[in-house]
Amino acid sequence: MNIRHNKTKIIATIGPATSDLDTLRNMVHAGMDVCRINFSHGTHEQHLNIVHNIKEINRELGLNISLLGDLQGPKLRLGEVEEGTELVDGSDVIITTEACIGNASRVYVNYPALPTDVEIDDSILIDDGNLTLTVTEKIDDKTFKTRVIHGGPLSSKKGFNLPNTNISLPSLTEKDLKDLKFAVGNQFDWIGLSFVRRGSDVTELKERISEMGGTARVVAKIEKPEAIRYIKSIVKKSDAIMVARGDLGVELPLEQVPMLQKKIVERCINFSKPVIIATQMMESMINNARPTRAEASDVANAVMDGADAVMLSAETSVGKYPLEAVGAVRRIVGSTENGWDIYLKGKKPSKSSPTFLSDQICYAAVQISDQISAQAIISLTQSGYTAFKIASYRPKCAIFIFTSNKTIFRLLNLVWNVQVFYYDKMDSTDQTMTDVLNILKEKKLIKVGDLAVHTASMPILSKSRTNALKISRVD
Ligand code: PEP
Repeated sequence: MNIRHNKTKIIATIGPATSDLDTLRNMVHAGMDVCRINFSHGTHEQHLNIVHNIKEINRELGLNISLLGDLQGPKLRLGEVEEGTELVDGSDVIITTEACIGNASRVYVNYPALPTDVEIDDSILIDDGNLTLTVTEKIDDKTFKTRVIHGGPLSSKKGFNLPNTNISLPSLTEKDLKDLKFAVGNQFDWIGLSFVRRGSDVTELKERISEMGGTARVVAKIEKPEAIRYIKSIVKKSDAIMVARGDLGVELPLEQVPMLQKKIVERCINFSKPVIIATQMMESMINNARPTRAEASDVANAVMDGADAVMLSAETSVGKYPLEAVGAVRRIVGSTENGWDIYLKGKKPSKSSPTFLSDQICYAAVQISDQISAQAIISLTQSGYTAFKIASYRPKCAIFIFTSNKTIFRLLNLVWNVQVFYYDKMDSTDQTMTDVLNILKEKKLIKVGDLAVHTASMPILSKSRTNALKISRVD
């Protein structure tokens, strides 16, 4: 079956509002390309049900909807707080690591080293920055004093961000390791790592995945000032990046978020790493059937920036209008892709790169496809590298990827404009090129008279890097 989506992919977070088989199937028909499970919420039993449903839909519809599992990471949270608690501007509040029910003068946070990590004058933001405090006095190794700068109502389990503090928590908590085991055991394609601080956080997660026998690739979530500082090495070490604007806009002044989004997207395209724009894209659709005009512009701007994918969170996990939200994103994305020049991006391959020759073939394929107004670029890949590379040059025509590697089959569904097909006959390059054209013709994805640019590795059996380029007219 062919469900023709746009070039910019849609990631939808699945939760109670969308996890049953029929709704998930409708989400796919509405435009979902990647199913995100947020390990901050729900149980493994609930997640397993979603995984089974997605696999069933992939089988039923002949699709490859990807699975992205998002680890919570070292997120700090308040403990329980008495109902009706309100922090008053200018008052003093003790923060303690000794379990207690919090109130307006004392609150508990679930991180024992916090009193050691904080410094006087460090800022604390609670509940997505709605409340702000500043550290005024370190009392002992379990408590410190703060002054309320902007107060307001305080409820249990709210997020607790310290933008200027170097938190010494490990990047993977015990909960993350349990969730990772679940994700690897259930063949998730992508693992999201929250609150990444440095490139070494990504390397550590990759080592854990391979120790567990997994092949999942890593999405580094950019949401800390330290991640911005070390963005170069994080992009280099990750397989994809998420601009996690929710926490990013709490940890950094939110007026910086739009510029950071644009800079991160540009860097990712130049390094051929898929990039996701996340959070509050259709926020009002949690309760309303139509988005605001500002939200429509936000989605369109992400497409114009060159994002590989846009992501929905609460809109689709707990919102009242999940199908409408995906449908609205799909229409905005489609309209922007048709009406705006978002094509032919990326940097020319560098002669000093060890992959220069195959990169140059990918680059040339995209340039030629534009010059001859081809309908498709058709590539064979074993590692997936060629697919990431070609997509990063943002061709106007379709990208059809053929592979016999089952571990990259669903993975690539997150990547801009890529459609993947299974192909495992390796008789000769000529035969393969004829076969793939026939497959695409049969699926009505190309037609007689169309022009296609092929890339491949010759000789085909050597399964080495892309080194060949050919133009075909479909007959
Ligand atoms: C974010 O903070 O923008 C984000 C995507 O992370 P989460 O949904 O895990 O809070």
